[in-house]
Amino acid sequence: MAYSGQTEFEFHLLTKAAPQRPLSKHEIHQSLSSYSDVPLRIQLHENSQTLISFNFSSPRITTIRMHKGFLHATEPLIQALGQYIQKRDKNSWLQINEFAQTGIKHKAPDPAKKYVQQGDHHNLKELFSEINAQYFNDEVTVSISWGPKSKPVKQGLIKKKRRSMCFGHYSDINKHITLNRKLDHPAVEAEFIKYIIYHEILHHTIPSERVNGRWVHHSKEFYAAEKQYPNYAYMQKRSAELLRIL
Ligand SMILES: [Zn+2]
Repeated sequence: MAYSGQTEFEFHLLTKAAPQRPLSKHEIHQSLSSYSDVPLRIQLHENSQTLISFNFSSPRITTIRMHKGFLHATEPLIQALGQYIQKRDKNSWLQINEFAQTGIKHKAPDPAKKYVQQGDHHNLKELFSEINAQYFNDEVTVSISWGPKSKPVKQGLIKKKRRSMCFGHYSDINKHITLNRKLDHPAVEAEFIKYIIYHEILHHTIPSERVNGRWVHHSKEFYAAEKQYPNYAYMQKRSAELLRIL
């Protein structure tokens, strides 16, 4: 393995402190060119099927097609890309792939698009402010919105029994919380939505850790903080009930 544990630790820390400003195409080209013996050509795209591909077949130029999300690459990822260009090794490929899966695939909607905070039943801006004031000293600056409305289930189709449901998601790259629009429902209490917001904010304040090469999103520290939430046991029970209702 070319990467020591220490390097992975740095990789984690630096990834979590993602810069606000993405790189320009010129900057990523410059950074990666120092790793390559042949000139590089960078092509950016927004196709989420193949997030990154390398064409090494020409001895005169190497072409890298990458999703625009790679412009959010931090130094350790640039190093992994550079190492892959040099050695085409599995370890750096795994790092690149992990960034693609966690950083790009789960990207929140384009910030240019208007975030919906006022739902039919619940206003996320208000609920977020309450949680932020009550538990986080008003110090949390992440944004929040409802996710897209899902298509209505056609009549006559048997509704599949749900075993799990993603109530919310926190994007570390965008510093944005997205809540499942299904929670914007009259049967869902504001208290429950506030609990989900609390959970997602904890993902911001207690970043995921890398343990033995795997990401741990809910660490012991995370669970300990989550249990501080009032009526935590009830919220857990309610999660299970809402799976059946929503
Ligand atoms: Zn979580």
